[in-house]
Amino acid sequence: MKLFKRIIFVFIVAMSFIGLVSCENKQGDPSCAHEYTLSVTYATCTKNGEIVKTCTKCGRVETEKTSPTGHNYVSGVCTDCGDRQ
Ligand SMILES: [Zn+2]
Ligand SMILES: [Zn+2]
Repeated sequence: MKLFKRIIFVFIVAMSFIGLVSCENKQGDPSCAHEYTLSVTYATCTKNGEIVKTCTKCGRVETEKTSPTGHNYVSGVCTDCGDRQ
């Protein structure tokens, strides 16, 4: 049973390694008329957001960072996250 777990572990490590390698290789097909689907993580007051565009045709992935929105203080309290000035 221990050996079995060990094999699973090695398998997971190998898979994540393959994942990393393929990650560097997502330029897609240059002749493709890309059609992107968007996955948006919204920026918060202090953290960057991220827009991940994935081409449904060739698998090209483009990532864009969006800037933090900054606190929006009203009467000393941020209306977005509740932070106090
Ligand atoms: Zn494409
Ligand atoms: Zn805030």
